[in-house]
Amino acid sequence: MSKKFRVFATCDIGESINLLRQRGYEVEVYPKPEAPPKSLIIEKVKSRIDGLITTLRDPIDAEVFEAGKGTLKVVAQIAVGFDNINRADANRCKIPFTHTADVLTEATAEFAFFMMGALARKMWTAEHLTRENKWGYWHPYLPFLGDEVTGKTIAVIGTGRIGLALIKKCTGFDMNILCYDPAYQNHEYVKAVQEMKDIRHAHGFSRDKTWIKYVPLEEALAEADFVSVHVPLLREGETTTPTYHLFNEKTLRTMKPTAYLVNTSRGPVVDEAALAKALRENWIAGVALDVYEKEPLPGDSPLRDPAIEDRCRLLPHFASAARITRLSTDPNRGMAGRTVQGLIDVLEGNYGGDITKMPYVVNKEAWGK
Ligand code: NAD
Repeated sequence: MSKKFRVFATCDIGESINLLRQRGYEVEVYPKPEAPPKSLIIEKVKSRIDGLITTLRDPIDAEVFEAGKGTLKVVAQIAVGFDNINRADANRCKIPFTHTADVLTEATAEFAFFMMGALARKMWTAEHLTRENKWGYWHPYLPFLGDEVTGKTIAVIGTGRIGLALIKKCTGFDMNILCYDPAYQNHEYVKAVQEMKDIRHAHGFSRDKTWIKYVPLEEALAEADFVSVHVPLLREGETTTPTYHLFNEKTLRTMKPTAYLVNTSRGPVVDEAALAKALRENWIAGVALDVYEKEPLPGDSPLRDPAIEDRCRLLPHFASAARITRLSTDPNRGMAGRTVQGLIDVLEGNYGGDITKMPYVVNKEAWGK
């Protein structure tokens, strides 16, 4: 390699950083666990770095892209979601950015499934009972009961990579599945899942015949026992189907009072003030959240209200936080490995230097005809 590339990483991504150093790259890693100030990112970009490794905590907008116009060659994000990166600004400055789709799909889907189970079967409340030495007896229904997941109906909102992966897991639990996605419908997949369900029933694995189908949002919300959200955060003006506050007073009221909501997508997809009200006033049975309108969750969030504690599970944006998924240096297994490979593809001109052919680049349209 003739040129020595300079890279700034806004966080440590483990052993994958060394892969870059072994290739002769000069890599500076922001040493603290929290996000660096935006001013530092801009300062680094202005110092003419070639590559910037970012997380979803870093606002990568016009200011950053302008600072790197003509010098910054790639932004490599360690996440599949990229709502912190302004795509229009990236395109205007002709700077490609990459993400880590696919490698976190199964980890995120299984976490959503586990959240659903932990919430409905009251595992957190039940463990507290044991730990606080308040478990005084075995009784048929006291002090509380949970709800089964097996055989229930789930609405999967957004049938992209993670939504479809969740559907596979729900099929193993004989759930009926309502799918909603206004922009992408995978009817082949749904047909294959139905075939699998029919085989499970024919062989006696599932007692009842179960089904899967695409339906409108209102029907999905009104019929489901569980609603799991797997959409990107898209604001007004970015798409014809925005997801910002997709869950609001109206949509939450459409859900059954016995239904549970699970959100592992992005916080602003749910209006938290409306959600807290929905829990306080029992419009829905409970919620499990991994993501929030503001992260970390503020100390004064209404979601911390002790009155709704037993029906509100709060996780720290943790759905992809599994060892191999986060840190494997293999680009086909780990987010870190895929981040680094995306960066290398652009800087070293893989795929004949054709950005539109690079698998991890998101904003290929800026190089299209
Ligand atoms: P994807 O792009 O494969 O799927 C998203 C789907 O949402 C697409 O099929 C799209 O058509 C659909 N969609 C868009 N607008 C919609 C709307 N208004 N209503 C319903 N569906 C709509 O993305 P993915 O890989 O499945 O990831 C989904 C999101 O999950 C990411 O964008 C990210 O924000 C989030 N995520 C969170 C974590 C976590 O740690 N909590 C981990 C991974 C991904």
